Formats: sequence, C-alpha cells, structure tokens
Amino acid sequence: RTAVVAREVTKVYGEGDAAVHALRGIDVGFAAEEFTAIMGPSGSGKSTLMHCLAGLDTVTDGQVIIGDVEITGLNDKQLTLLRRERVGFIFQAFNLLPTLTAEQNIRLPLEIAGRQADQALFDRVIETVGLRDRLRHKPSELSGGQQQRVAVARALISKPQVIFADEPTGNLDSRSGAEVLAFLRRSVRELGQTIVMVTHDPVAASYADRVVFLRDGLLVSEVERPTPQTVL
Ligand code: ADP
Ligand code: ADP
Repeated sequence: RTAVVAREVTKVYGEGDAAVHALRGIDVGFAAEEFTAIMGPSGSGKSTLMHCLAGLDTVTDGQVIIGDVEITGLNDKQLTLLRRERVGFIFQAFNLLPTLTAEQNIRLPLEIAGRQADQALFDRVIETVGLRDRLRHKPSELSGGQQQRVAVARALISKPQVIFADEPTGNLDSRSGAEVLAFLRRSVRELGQTIVMVTHDPVAASYADRVVFLRDGLLVSEVERPTPQTVL
C-alpha cells in the first residue's frame, strides 16, 4: 500500500534570471509501514521535497498524493485539515511550547483537532519513549533527548498515517539520537505508519528501510536496507 506519492514534482523558487530550480521532476512513492531516509548534499532539495510532500509548500508542477487525496488540488483550509488528520511532524528544533508540561505538549495537537486521546495508545507511546516520570515537567526541565522524545510522542499520539521528520536527531547526542530512531523504527511496524526522514547522518539513515539520494533537485539513487557504510 502506497501512502505518499510524488509524480513529476517540480519546484521553482523565484522567476526569470533569479529562478532556482529546487526540484526538477521527482517521482517517488512511500509505502505504509516503510521508513525512508532522504539524503543528499546541502541545497540538493531535501527540505523542499519534504515541505512539498507534507503540503507545507506548493509545487510548481506535478502531483503529491497522500493516501487517496491529491493534495496539490486542495485549498489552504483543506490542507490544514488533511495535515491535522493524517500527518505528524518532527523537527530539529523541537517546537515545544515552553509554558506547557510534557504531557500538555503531547496532547496539544489532539486538543486543537477536538479529538479524544486514545488512552491505550497514549500509555503505550509514553512507555516506549520512556517519559512516564517526566510528564509533569516543562521543556526547560528536560534534557535535549527528552524534549525530542516529547516531540516524537506528540507526533505519534494522533496516529498520523505519515510522519515527516526533518533532521530529528540533529540536536541530540548519539545515544539519545539512537533511542529516538529505534523508537521511530518500531512505531512504523507497530502502528503501520509511513515515515519520511531528512538526514545527513549515515548512522541515522541506517535505521531506515531505504535511503533515497537527491542531487540538484533530482532523485539520483536508492539503497535498500542501508548500513552506515552503504550510505556514506
Ligand atoms: P536541502 O534541504 O537539500 O539543503 P533545500 O530544499 O533547502 O535543500 O534547497 C534547495 C534549493 O532551493 C537551494 O538552492 C535553496 O537555496 C533553494 N531554496 C530553498 N528554499 C527557498 C526559498 N524559500 N526561496 C528561494 N530559494 C529557496
Ligand atoms: P536545511 O538546513 O534543512 O537544508 P535551510 O537552512 O537550507 O534548511 O533552509 C531553512 C529554511 O529556509 C527552509 O524553510 C528553506 O525553504 C528556506 N530557504 C533555504 N534556502 C533559501 C533561500 N535561498 N532563500 C529563501 N529561503 C530559503
């Protein structure tokens, strides 16, 4: 089952002499229960591709399909709804609200969407990310690794079909990073999710099922069952 598809996606920033062709015809699919890493040099289009896949940025040409919905045909309001219901985000800067506790941060997206938390899932996510005794703490009272685990829990709790992660371990020490990645990997299997992760770190990428490589806005190669050596 394919959860996210990009068809001939192009993205041009600016016009005329100043035009930057960030994506130049990307064809790629991401299956349910598949964890994919996107790698490539700085400026190759990784962030742009992820933003276009997630509907955070519009494509210049081509199509993006999430589940059974072609998002390139949606207006802003429809896009916001679709993201709320199907998409989770994990960013390098954790984007936690400083005045809320860990638990309040984790529950916030559901509250905004007016949905009830699935308590069994909440408990399972909290156990897996190991935050049980940190739920009442504010972000400033948590380590970087713990804050990132809060962000991961927040992304998982609404059971999004797709999770987009932009350098999710960029601000973590290698041990906390490994914990977060192992957890993402497990959640793909247990919750049947699709994860698309941008990273420049071969060790992080080795947690994925496959790695796709971008260069100058084109998808140039792909590695299945990566190891840190095969994606260097
Ligand atoms: P990566 O994430 O691989 O570093 P990006 O997707 O950030 O690459 O950028 C791809 C290209 O598009 C780069 O040349 C970058 O400068 C350009 N670019 C990205 N975002 C914008 C923008 N908002 N306006 C103009 N150019 C942009
Ligand atoms: P990353 O480290 O993920 O590659 P960047 O630092 O390239 O991210 O870009 C951060 C943000 O700035 C992104 O939202 C990207 O779209 C935007 N951006 C990147 N390059 C440009 C540019 N040349 N002009 C305007 N915005 C840009």
